[in-house]
Amino acid sequence: DKAYKVVVIGGGPGGLSVSSTVSKLLGQSQVAVIEPSKVHYYQPLWTYVGGGLKSFSESERPMGELISPQADWIQDKVTKVNAEENTVTLADGKRIGYDYLVVAAGIQVNWDNIKGLKNALGKNGVTSNYSADSVQKTWQFIQDFKGGNAIFTFPATPPKCPGAPTKITFLAEEAFRNLGVRDKTNVIYNHAGAKIFGVDHYGKVLQRLADERGIQTNYFHELIEIKADDKEAIFRNNQTKDVKTFNYDMIHVAPPCGPPAFIKESNIGDAAGWVDVNKETTRHNKYSNIFALGDCSSLPTSKTAAAITAESGVLKHNLIADLEGKTVEPAKYDGYTSCPLIVGRKQLILAEFSGYTGTPMETFPVDQRQISSTAQFLNKEVIPEIYWRELLAGRWTGPSKYREAMAPFRGKYD
Ligand code: FAD
Repeated sequence: DKAYKVVVIGGGPGGLSVSSTVSKLLGQSQVAVIEPSKVHYYQPLWTYVGGGLKSFSESERPMGELISPQADWIQDKVTKVNAEENTVTLADGKRIGYDYLVVAAGIQVNWDNIKGLKNALGKNGVTSNYSADSVQKTWQFIQDFKGGNAIFTFPATPPKCPGAPTKITFLAEEAFRNLGVRDKTNVIYNHAGAKIFGVDHYGKVLQRLADERGIQTNYFHELIEIKADDKEAIFRNNQTKDVKTFNYDMIHVAPPCGPPAFIKESNIGDAAGWVDVNKETTRHNKYSNIFALGDCSSLPTSKTAAAITAESGVLKHNLIADLEGKTVEPAKYDGYTSCPLIVGRKQLILAEFSGYTGTPMETFPVDQRQISSTAQFLNKEVIPEIYWRELLAGRWTGPSKYREAMAPFRGKYD
């Protein structure tokens, strides 16, 4: 069986941002990236794909072009981490040894947790930006929409990018106006949680906008079933437990999500099943040679690629110190995350905050709660370039330097 200095599970932004840097540092074939998929998706673009502002092909690149040439790509799936013996087991039964392990396997979308959804998805007005297949249907269903009930949902478990279900609601509402069907349409946002956005600093602005635009927001409404034949969506009120049926002409579903099952089965998870790491150092709480970042980690911030920029800088600092045998003060992650809240084709509210404290951490010296077309351009055209060229190559660890440089010009947050 083979062994590596560093094994990285997953070729998403978490895994690639770490493996690119570390493999260059250690040289040829000292790092392995275990990743079954032939393609890498830039998922943040999927909101724009669903909203008709970007083509799907811009969100995908061959995995082989993104994995660092110094690293070995093992195209398989990890089924178990054997932390006591420093190996991982692959789907084909082989074991791979490691000195250090980085877990970046992402989040699991649990389509089956909503009865009837899997079979209905992508057909007759049922769609979701959360899958590579159905995201390609969203814009078509919006354009074909002739009026009636357009329903949007938010699940009971925190999904990746908790802003994404709201963004597509705003984009669709605007599209219905542009297509001339808005006056025949009820735009209904059935949300399983208590409010539109976790951080009130931005959430209050979003709720006001939703009200102004006639988006009906219903909270504590959890989608539990789709009856595709009757075009019915069944919701349970999580406070009263009442079950209510909504007829839909189109429905966008943000599905329930959870940790990948192998984490729990490997005994490296916390009570909820996320890889159990220290929230500041990203190091495992029990096994000191295991780190994790991104959506599969227990880091209690919102699950975004933006959070990974800062997490990856911290993780690499701490891992590289170990690899070089240095005892240094550990780098500490502050919970930085961002949610580019798209509220129209040329409109964006750039939420940046600490998921740990809820405090805004804005990069620019303006009140970022204001709707901005410049921020939309930045997120739609510039950040994807930073992602492909810099983050995946291990060279971008977030905007903290710029935030600090601009701090003297920024007012106090209220
Ligand atoms: P992933 O990107 O999910 O990558 C995990 C990788 O691990 C995958 O390639 C998978 O194949 C692989 N893998 C899984 N299991 C195994 C296994 N057992 N063995 C080996 N490999 C495995 N983020 C933002 O910052 N801004 C946004 O605007 C934004 N919008 C979004 C909109 C949508 C519709 C969606 C779906 C997501 C959005 N996100 C956004 C979230 C962002 O895409 C994720 O947070 C990010 O991709 C997480 O990166 P990751 O590396 O942790 O996991």
